[in-house]
Formats: sequence, C-alpha cells, structure tokens
Amino acid sequence: MIRQPAILKNVKYQLETIPVYDAWASDATCPLCTLMDAAEHRHVNYYLGNSVMNPETRVLVNETGFCSRHFPMMREAGYAHHLGLVGHTHLQTVRGKMAGKLKSLSRRASAKAAVEFSSAVRSQAVECLICRSMERDLKRYSYTAVMMYGNEDEFRGLFEESPGPCLIHAADLADMAVETLKKNEMQYFLAALAGHLDSALEELEADVLRFTQKFDTQNDGMEWGNSRDAHARTVQALSGRVVRLKD
Ligand SMILES: [Zn+2]
Ligand SMILES: [Zn+2]
Repeated sequence: MIRQPAILKNVKYQLETIPVYDAWASDATCPLCTLMDAAEHRHVNYYLGNSVMNPETRVLVNETGFCSRHFPMMREAGYAHHLGLVGHTHLQTVRGKMAGKLKSLSRRASAKAAVEFSSAVRSQAVECLICRSMERDLKRYSYTAVMMYGNEDEFRGLFEESPGPCLIHAADLADMAVETLKKNEMQYFLAALAGHLDSALEELEADVLRFTQKFDTQNDGMEWGNSRDAHARTVQALSGRVVRLKD
C-alpha cells in the first residue's frame, strides 16, 4: 500500500504516484524512459483521435504543429484520414506564415532574405504540441519520484535497486530536486542520486566492455554475465530514450 506523501507547501506539480511507483517496481532500464515512452505514444494517438474534431485543439495544431520526431511518428500510427485533416489545415497555416518570406526570397534573392526564410522554417519545425505535453509529463513524473524518494521507504528501496535512471533523466531528477525540495532534503536526494548513478554507470561500463570482448574468439569461454544487451543499454543510458534491448 503506497502512502500519499505529506502535502507540502508550494506544490507546483500534480503527483502521479501509481504509474511512477509501478515504473520503478518494473525491471525497466530507466523507469522515466519507460514512462515517457508511454506518454509519447499516448499523445501521438491523442492528436490523431477525436481531438481532430475539437476546434480549440485544431487551432493549436494548425498554429504550432509537430517536430521532426513526432510528425513522422503520427504518420506511422496509421490514422490516415485524421492525419490528412490535420495535415491540410496545418499546411495552410504554415503557408500563410511563409508567404511573405517566400515573396521576399523571390524578389530580393538576398542573403538577408535567405536567413529570414531559413530561420522562420527552423523555428516552425522545432515547435511541437507533443513535446510540450511531454515536458509537462516529465515534470510531474520527476516531481513524484523526488517526493516519493523522501517519503516512501519502499520506493527508496526500488530506486536503489533500479538500473536507472539513465543519465538524461538523472539530470531531470536533479533539476527537480533543486526546484522543489527544501535544502536538507535536496542535499539528501542529490547525494543519493549521485552515488546510485555512479555505481550504475560503472557497472554498465564493465558490462559493455565485456560485450565487446565477447566478439573476440579468445573469449569464447568467458561468461556473458549481464552483458548481452549492454550495447543497447548504453545507448539508452546516454540518450534518454527507450531502445530495443534484444538483437
Ligand atoms: Zn531515462
Ligand atoms: Zn515533438
């Protein structure tokens, strides 16, 4: 049974106790990578679902759109009709924004016009509703993990046993501890996080070295140990994204 942590002053984020606990209780390479992977798929499906018919959401989609990671993921999700509807009105909006830049590029054909055009294209391409939603999810999950670490013995045990978090999500947890914890709680969490991460990464480095050594026939007799998927776990530890572990 998970106790709800005591309500603290100035709570900025909503607690997501159950999914965060479950992620750390699983054998995830990084619990936050797993939570964010699920969140990402949820948002991709949301923007292809009935939200397409919601005028307010549609205005947001038309104006902001999706980044070069998430728009292709929407294509792969397979809701062709809804993708076409979203794509059509978003393209209309983007064309409207680019019209002046294209006209000036054509008329002036100058270096300045080219810079104005390319920076407008690039700033549009990095805007993304799914990234924005995921940033909010990550704040809530990180906040919950940091709170539970201080309040739940059971969660603290799971945290210490987990091979995660990955390096990227450890940075998010460190930032969250600084943002939301009192000084002595923050120091306790940061020192524990650093110690845990240091030994987890040391172990990963030994595993991935063993993985490379197994390609040498001289080492045929050597045990794989925990190194069969160490190449994949190294990618995840350094990238902050769930990767396929099995070849
Ligand atoms: Zn991670
Ligand atoms: Zn995105």
